[in-house]
Amino acid sequence: LLEVLFEAGEHRSAEELATAVQGRAPDVHISTIYRNLEDLQELGVIVHSHLGHGPATYQLASLAHGHFICEACGATLEAPDELFRGLADTVRAKLGFSIDPHHFAMLGLCMGCQELTRLG
Ligand SMILES: [Zn+2]
Ligand SMILES: [Zn+2]
Ligand SMILES: [Zn+2]
Repeated sequence: LLEVLFEAGEHRSAEELATAVQGRAPDVHISTIYRNLEDLQELGVIVHSHLGHGPATYQLASLAHGHFICEACGATLEAPDELFRGLADTVRAKLGFSIDPHHFAMLGLCMGCQELTRLG
């Protein structure tokens, strides 16, 4: 499973990963794959994130990163961690809360869609 995760790269749903694993090892039961995903998450090897309305996607913890998603056209922008650093510090200082910018995507409007809204 890890091998498949490495090859598949990021943003794979549990279903996609299960299909990929079964492509290589047809006798592995799908529930085993889901259980392994859970185990790997508990070990901190992989993480999942929610990108908009689709199913959660999995990736190696070492590749975890944030996302901005356009609510109008669905475009996904990768969000480097530096962008959240100031926000994370402010939130921790004011509320004592430690944010995880990777778990959920931030929703908004991409440049193109803002343009369209302006032109109306
Ligand atoms: Zn979650
Ligand atoms: Zn857009
Ligand atoms: Zn990404």
